[in-house]
Amino acid sequence: MIPCPKCGSPTDPNAATHNLCKNCSSEPSARERKKRNIVFCGVCGRVRIGGKWQSNLSFDEFIQELQKQGNIVSRAKDRLVYEVIDSNKKTLIQYQLKKSLCMNCLIQKNDSYLFEVKIRVEGRAMNPREAMYLMDSIRRTCLESLDQDFVYRFSKNKEGVDVLISSKKLAEQIVGGLKKKFDGRLTQSFKLVSEKHDRTRVFKTTYSYRILSPSVGSVYRINNHLYEVVRVENGEVFLTAIKGRENMVFTKHELISMYKSNKVEVLTQQGSIL
Ligand SMILES: [Zn+2]
Ligand SMILES: [Zn+2]
Repeated sequence: MIPCPKCGSPTDPNAATHNLCKNCSSEPSARERKKRNIVFCGVCGRVRIGGKWQSNLSFDEFIQELQKQGNIVSRAKDRLVYEVIDSNKKTLIQYQLKKSLCMNCLIQKNDSYLFEVKIRVEGRAMNPREAMYLMDSIRRTCLESLDQDFVYRFSKNKEGVDVLISSKKLAEQIVGGLKKKFDGRLTQSFKLVSEKHDRTRVFKTTYSYRILSPSVGSVYRINNHLYEVVRVENGEVFLTAIKGRENMVFTKHELISMYKSNKVEVLTQQGSIL
């Protein structure tokens, strides 16, 4: 009998176990080995777990979580060995690290947003102050919705503001906010952008919102006659014919619903929408 080199208890010499006693030599076999893949986004660092990109778990946070429950034995560029000890059982997990591109980063890279909100002021180009105001309020809507997983960007042009966005829910929230703040006309259009392997067709949805804010000096065409807005007062819009002397009065509400049903054509719009 010789002492076990690890625990010192008497044991028979055994070259196969390097003279370890029965207890100590059985330890390594109690170690379970597992292999797992971990996919993370090479751009934003998000981790994919169970096929789903985690909106609030980055690769670094994932590592921190691991360290709370076990030890990282080794770490290389594409591999991470992790050890968890649970009721005296050791489990070695080898994570294969795979870099990929998450849905959001892919959309940003390819500019393949599936929803678009185009905002225009009817009858004229949007002025910079109006554009700033609209973008600020949309930014606020997006900040309030950070629990949703989306990406967006603005595209400003001389006509107005376009919002490109990956989330239908948020696009509709933005449209809802516009409807609440401004009178206008909403149209929706769809464009086929791609076809998946299973032949599902993918469409891009465009919401177009044209704001009408009746104001003095604006010129409308109604029943093929031109009218100028001469007064807006207490929710009523006073119009006078440009040729002739005919006067008309509509409530703002009437005028907006005529506009929505294409009975009013706006040639120029004066004043600010703000
Ligand atoms: Zn021993
Ligand atoms: Zn990403």
